[in-house]
Amino acid sequence: MNTPYQGDKRVYGYFQCSSCRRKWESGNSWANKGQECKRCDVIVYPYSQKPLKKVEEDSKIDQTKEHPMELCEMCKELGYSC
Ligand SMILES: [Zn+2]
Ligand SMILES: [Zn+2]
Repeated sequence: MNTPYQGDKRVYGYFQCSSCRRKWESGNSWANKGQECKRCDVIVYPYSQKPLKKVEEDSKIDQTKEHPMELCEMCKELGYSC
C-alpha cells in the first residue's frame, strides 16, 4: 500500500518530493500510483488524497491545467492520459 486512498476511482492527490521538497497537486491521482518529480526523476506517492467531487466543491480546481503524462505512473501503465 503506497497511497492513503485505496479505491478504484480517480482522486485528487497532494504530492511532495522527499528529495527536493517540491510540492504539487494533481486531479489525476490513483490508488497505489505515483507521479514523477520532474526535477529528480523519482516516483512520488501522494501524502494525501481527496475525492475529486469534494475538492471541486471546496475550491476551484484549474481543469484546464494539462496533465503531464510522462510523469504519471497511471498514464504510463494505460498508454494514454488517465
Ligand atoms: Zn524532486
Ligand atoms: Zn495520468
